[in-house]
Amino acid sequence: MAEAVPPGGTVGILGGGQLGRMLAIAAAQLGLRAHVYAPEDAPPAADVARFTRGDWEDEASLAAFARAVDVVTYEFENVPASVVDAVEPFAPVRPGRRALAAAQDRVDEKTFLNGIGVETAPFAPVNDAEGLAAALARIGAPAILKTRRLGYDGKGQARIMGPEDAPAALAAMAGAPAVLEGFVPFAREISVIAARGADGAVAAFDPGENVHEGGILRCTSVPAASAPAVQQAAGEIAGRILAALDYVGVIGVEFFETAEGRLLVNEIAPRVHNTGHWTIEATATDQFRQHIKAICLWPLGDPSRHADAVMENLIGDEAGAWRRLSAEPGAALHLYGKAEARPGRKMGHVTRLSRA
Ligand code: AMP
Repeated sequence: MAEAVPPGGTVGILGGGQLGRMLAIAAAQLGLRAHVYAPEDAPPAADVARFTRGDWEDEASLAAFARAVDVVTYEFENVPASVVDAVEPFAPVRPGRRALAAAQDRVDEKTFLNGIGVETAPFAPVNDAEGLAAALARIGAPAILKTRRLGYDGKGQARIMGPEDAPAALAAMAGAPAVLEGFVPFAREISVIAARGADGAVAAFDPGENVHEGGILRCTSVPAASAPAVQQAAGEIAGRILAALDYVGVIGVEFFETAEGRLLVNEIAPRVHNTGHWTIEATATDQFRQHIKAICLWPLGDPSRHADAVMENLIGDEAGAWRRLSAEPGAALHLYGKAEARPGRKMGHVTRLSRA
């Protein structure tokens, strides 16, 4: 078994957004250093870590970065396989390739999940108008057409209420390979953030209940309103996914829950997750420190929750209310250091605690 990265070691992080920033802060809390690699000039994570600006195609820069760190992780799931090829000779990459492959393509993801007995929305790959007609005939409407790869925050998606919507939906894919998903009439959306250590130990946080607006996460509340048995089942499904991927690190698993308490996995994210930000204030080991512990091969921390919490994203100009939020009783304000408040951009979040 590989050696742990002890305090004083360096964690390499691919990607420089707010998740990378919060991972770097967590590494510092545990006596570790962080080194961020990203193509942007001044990404949010560069404020709090050593920073290498480099392109994803620059194999020499990636190799130099990997030589300077003890372990490499990532804060976004679309890390190209060629990047893993460039860094892996010099430092272990955790979570590994299987997790990335399973999460990067919506067809592969659902095929993997169904293969381990985890339910998803009905789906069919779509490459052209004929394929879409056939998929619609099989799955029926309403349905959602999504690009197979590189979708996030509801981007690259089109609703189909009937065959008349098919041409516009296909045009919205801009020629990219797509997948048609049956629309799930869910009662709520929940997610489980869970960690697995290299020794196979699993620690799951309580499920959060998520509300999206325009495809973007608005807020996450814990506890979720789901029945205890459903919450337990969600944790067990996350554990099954982690074991099947021989996973090391934190994963985010998003579910649709039907009115009857059936759970269908919408997607998995092989990284820390926006719906897990509440753990910073409401647990002894938040998702960021848990991820750092797992990838550094430390024993996992206690994921139990000591408060109820509601995490609300601050999107676009909402972060302009920082003075009021700064003074609000019981509110924990987080700002990501992004200069420009573009519409739809996640600028920060606020977590409000109440007694468990
Ligand atoms: P995604 O980018 O796939 O996570 O989708 C963003 C949001 O769109 C989800 O959180 C749901 O609110 C909604 N959505 C996506 N796919 C489906 C589906 N098959 N059925 C119902 N709602 C969906």
